Amino acid sequence: MSDTNVSPISANSANPAGSGTAPSPVLATTNLHKSYRVGNSTLHVLRGVEMELHTGQVTALMGSSGSGKSTLLQLLGLMDSCNQGQILLRGRCIHNLRAGAAAKVRAQELGFVFQQFQLIQELSALENVLLPRRIARGLSWFSNRGQERLRANAVLKEVGLGDRCRHRPHQLSGGEQQRVAIARALVSSPPVLLADEPTGNLDRQTGNDVLDLLLNLARTRGTAMLLATHDKQIAARCDRILHLEDGQLQ
Ligand code: ADP
Ligand code: MG
Repeated sequence: MSDTNVSPISANSANPAGSGTAPSPVLATTNLHKSYRVGNSTLHVLRGVEMELHTGQVTALMGSSGSGKSTLLQLLGLMDSCNQGQILLRGRCIHNLRAGAAAKVRAQELGFVFQQFQLIQELSALENVLLPRRIARGLSWFSNRGQERLRANAVLKEVGLGDRCRHRPHQLSGGEQQRVAIARALVSSPPVLLADEPTGNLDRQTGNDVLDLLLNLARTRGTAMLLATHDKQIAARCDRILHLEDGQLQ
């Protein structure tokens, strides 16, 4: 399936200049439901999530363990599919894309940072960061390799790892691995960044440094970031807080 199958809902996510209307959300969900079937029982995790993320805004997603934060982020990141509802990215439906088109959207328009880094152990830091670019480029990758390597190098420098490009994940500290993962999430300059407990696997000081970096990068780039956390201190540093409770956002 090609990108052309991304169905337009509104022609343009940006508002006409001077129209005076509220800006369109960069990412929005309507009536999002997700349930898991385990044996004979069904677990309804998300029960009609309504959410809007805006450019330049960092949103904390709070909720107790098991409330469905990761489930919601995985749906938004197109790593799983919903049972009902819609996900709109810049006004286009993305919840029903086939695998190939979803992979392209993920590589170009969505960045994802996981609690457990999820780097590929066999690849260097630079090669890990290049992965979304390879997927985004498709066949044109081969004629653009040099340019893409420069781009990945620049993002690694931005996260403070200019001198660690050739290191494999096991040759890096936890904080450094998460920085590589942040560089991978941002290498395509996506409008949306999804971060699932990104400091949950790090000690307090390293976690604070990584959080500072994430907030800085999101704010200077104008990225809409949704950050799942159960930590009130982390949530307090975001621009607004959403609470997931009984499968809905409060
Ligand atoms: P949180 O991230 O808020 O801790 P999760 O989204 O990971 O919560 O999980 C929400 C609920 O869904 C939990 O009760 C969990 O056990 C269940 N769950 C998550 N993933 C699956 C799955 N793949 N199959 C069945 N149940 C799942
Ligand atoms: Mg979780």
